[in-house]
Amino acid sequence: MARKILLIDDDRLQYRLTQANFKNFQGEQYDLEWAETYEDGLAKLLAGGHAACLLDYQLGVRDGLQLIREAVAQGCRTPIVFLTAETAERVDIAAMEAGALDYLVKGEITPRMLERSLRYALKLGDTLEALRRLATRDQLTGLLNRREFDRILGEEEERVRRFGHPLALVMIDVDHFKSVNDTHGHPVGDVVLREVARRVGGLLRAVDRIARFGGEEFALILMQTDRAAALEVARRVCAVVEREPVLAGERVALNITVSAGVAALPADGKSGSDLVAAADRALYAAKARGRNRAVSFNEL
Ligand code: GH3
Ligand code: MG
Ligand code: MG
Repeated sequence: MARKILLIDDDRLQYRLTQANFKNFQGEQYDLEWAETYEDGLAKLLAGGHAACLLDYQLGVRDGLQLIREAVAQGCRTPIVFLTAETAERVDIAAMEAGALDYLVKGEITPRMLERSLRYALKLGDTLEALRRLATRDQLTGLLNRREFDRILGEEEERVRRFGHPLALVMIDVDHFKSVNDTHGHPVGDVVLREVARRVGGLLRAVDRIARFGGEEFALILMQTDRAAALEVARRVCAVVEREPVLAGERVALNITVSAGVAALPADGKSGSDLVAAADRALYAAKARGRNRAVSFNEL
């Protein structure tokens, strides 16, 4: 099936021209979808499913730069090629800074130029996505890495301050993990970490976040969740890990357990680092009280 390209332009003539250009492409053929207004364009872009987007600079009272910024702020990763009517000074750089991958001047566009630009934008988009993944994900488990955890926690801390809804953190640490490595070797330890990540990740809602915090430690950021609800989640985490042995190779079945510490904002602190410290102390208590359990900061 042909990949879809979204054109956001309030000018019907530009749509016709783009259609004509698409008919003259020599390589890959694309389906062209058209959005006529800023609102419709933003909605279609955010709905996803487009391989790339051609975006007009002038869109009524608002402009394409605003649209890029708004889309990117809402998590849009679609490669965008910017279109302007004239060689407007510095619009090209502004467009790139806002997140566009290329820039074309409307009157000068040929089918070959448009085809080349789309091809490069698609390729560059893939490369950027791969880089983004490398920068934000943990290689072993595919979970968010520590850096991304810190970034998200910072953002959410701000939201708690502004809107006042609660935010919970669950810190999870595999029990006696060193002995798994020591007895069965690091590759088996790695299998255990991946399986724990998979089981715990399977419990979460789409809005929640799971990160590999460090070696055999995981962290859950639970949005709009108070301490009591987070403690319920933490108990389910312990249960789902304990429920059945982790299979690592044909003859190795390991009974793995985890301990969890729970804390929440604003009840247990003011900042993200307060939250981490509180959940950490609760986790330490869970270890001290015998492991394979969840403890909440207010139970210390
Ligand atoms: P506790 O129940 O108190 O948590 O004991 P523990 O043995 O789990 O705690 P400790 O912190 O002593 O051991 C953590 C181990 O995790 C030590 C380290 O070698 C191992 N580890 C850290 N990262 C990785 C990894 O990526 N792969 C493997 N296989 N092991 C790892
Ligand atoms: Mg540890
Ligand atoms: Mg441990």
